[in-house]
Amino acid sequence: MNRFAIGFGAVLLVALVAFFTLAPGIAERDMNQIDGKPLPEVTDQAQALHDSLTIVDLHGDSLLWKRDILERGDRGHMDLPRLADGNVALQVFSSVTKSPKGQNYDSNTGDTDNITLLAIGQLQPLRTWTSLLERTLYHAEKLDRAAEGSDGALVLVRSPADIVPVRAPDSADPPVAAMLSVEGLHNLEGDIDNLQLLYDAGVRMAGLTHFFDNELAGSMHGVAKGGLTDMGSEAVRRMEAMGIVVDIAHCSRACVADVLAMATRPVVSSHGGVQATCPVNRNLTDAEIRGVARTGGVIGIGYWPGAVCDTSPAAIVAAMRHVRDLVGVEHVALGSDFDGSVTMRFDTSQLVGVTQGLLEDGWSVEEIRAAMGGNALRVLENGLEPGAPA
Ligand SMILES: [Zn+2]
Repeated sequence: MNRFAIGFGAVLLVALVAFFTLAPGIAERDMNQIDGKPLPEVTDQAQALHDSLTIVDLHGDSLLWKRDILERGDRGHMDLPRLADGNVALQVFSSVTKSPKGQNYDSNTGDTDNITLLAIGQLQPLRTWTSLLERTLYHAEKLDRAAEGSDGALVLVRSPADIVPVRAPDSADPPVAAMLSVEGLHNLEGDIDNLQLLYDAGVRMAGLTHFFDNELAGSMHGVAKGGLTDMGSEAVRRMEAMGIVVDIAHCSRACVADVLAMATRPVVSSHGGVQATCPVNRNLTDAEIRGVARTGGVIGIGYWPGAVCDTSPAAIVAAMRHVRDLVGVEHVALGSDFDGSVTMRFDTSQLVGVTQGLLEDGWSVEEIRAAMGGNALRVLENGLEPGAPA
């Protein structure tokens, strides 16, 4: 009996170790795919221009997954070696803390959550199994540790001064800069004062909602899809005062309208598309694009079908062109959503395909410099400066 119990325990242990070792990789491989469709040929001119750009990507979810972002991965879309290959100068890493079962763009409640399973399956610290706030603090620690262990190849952005060397690197092989953001402020767990903990952990951009309505606002994919609550308005005021950039990605139409009506600093849409080229509900109307432009903000165009209704560089360029033609090139930016449980045409090492696409579409070199990163840097440099107290 005893021997049976020991044998059973050993088999169970092997099964558990196998599960916790293999499952995270299988889960990610399943979620973050590359569709393998052909990419346009890259000319020497496009490659040379791409190599001379200062590129900013306003949104990627790599921190969610169990792998070392300093190592070149064989899954997902993004890590430090691939960011360097793609000549990305600044990557915003987002913290996703809760995602409903059966997640869809139309209607989700906040009653269920897949990230809890992921946190357990990835054997994250116990505190992250039950606390959304702790999940973000854990993601922040992962990013901090990566920067510390990178021998200077990955540096953190927390203040406008940190943007200066990104804009004008003092070496031929500059580091990749990384900034932390949040996808949905339900991680405040209902307490607005927790915003200070997020700031202290390095969060410098935050979207109010993700896939479900929360205490701050309605989500575009929620049920009621309402505007800002009192807590949501207070969060916007405090973020503007602290120097956290306000992100309207995933906000309901009412939420977007409320944020744009009260914003006193540049607002971003960190990742998504535009109704004009891809009429998926999460994408911005022309009125919303004009509203973001009025704040001096930028719209980060995503690379996946939910944003641009395709995965080709041409589709990404079409959305960028629409923003440029509607409100001016100074409001165009990139927001890939790499590693955001989406299927892409390319990973970040092949980002030159977008530069190639912009050249083929007739964009000037100055327009390409602005859209690929110059505009985003302007907004971050402004947005990270603490303002007047709220
Ligand atoms: Zn998202």
